[in-house]
Amino acid sequence: MQSEELQKNLDKAKEKLASADMLLIGTGKYLDAELGYDPFDPDSFERDFPEFKDKFGINSIMEGLNYKFPDEGSRWAFISKVAKMYRFSELNSPILENIKKLIGSRDYFIITDSMIGIFNRMGYPLDHIVEINGNLGDIQCHKPCTDNLYSIDDKVEAMLASQAECSISDDLLPKCPDCGEMMVPHISGKEFVTTDREFSAEMEYQKFMFQAYGKNFVILELGVEKLNRTIKEQFMNLVYQDMECTYITINDGDIYIKPGTRSKSIAIDSNIGDALEYLAN
Ligand SMILES: [Zn+2]
Repeated sequence: MQSEELQKNLDKAKEKLASADMLLIGTGKYLDAELGYDPFDPDSFERDFPEFKDKFGINSIMEGLNYKFPDEGSRWAFISKVAKMYRFSELNSPILENIKKLIGSRDYFIITDSMIGIFNRMGYPLDHIVEINGNLGDIQCHKPCTDNLYSIDDKVEAMLASQAECSISDDLLPKCPDCGEMMVPHISGKEFVTTDREFSAEMEYQKFMFQAYGKNFVILELGVEKLNRTIKEQFMNLVYQDMECTYITINDGDIYIKPGTRSKSIAIDSNIGDALEYLAN
């Protein structure tokens, strides 16, 4: 019975996606996890970062990103190892291929709370992506003295090569080119600064939403947890406030649709990979 319901919803979603003019995609932590990047997972952390677990008692990447390391050398040893894993891994998942197929030549916008920067690495420009929690590939001044962003990508290999006992040499610590203070990753936290780039993306998003009125508009939400306030609640409010659209949410077991939005919503209780394989092909 449950699979009959799932099949019915998949067929309905496939039909809506096929005729969509504009596609708004929202992605959350379960998509990252299905792609193999789960910053909350203790098991993969123990496998990939045993030295940081042993020395500092850290249990996950997310815990490490928020951990108060005793010095900057250890902090950047950790960050560079995470950046290597997240920024330079192969992007060869069928999930990403299927997202590409679904976007096709449609007008699209992407909102994500992922810090991995996958969509930009797939070739989608940053003015079509709002990264709510920032991006681990960017660094900024910790003060911050300006809202300039710099890339970490050209620093990672040297930091990794100099790692010894969970630390890197002082001369590799990233310093702000504007004031000489330490840099920090550009991810959500007390030092997070909204930059011109992010402001422009927000403006593009407003424009996109304005243009969506009267169009065949589909919102596709991938792996956003039930109580997410930044992406899911925003999407459901759009649907609730009488916007003409179809809201498709895909989630494995953590599915939720707000009362009052159900006639325009399609819930697909499935892992994202299987659902997208069906929807995109
Ligand atoms: Zn500075």
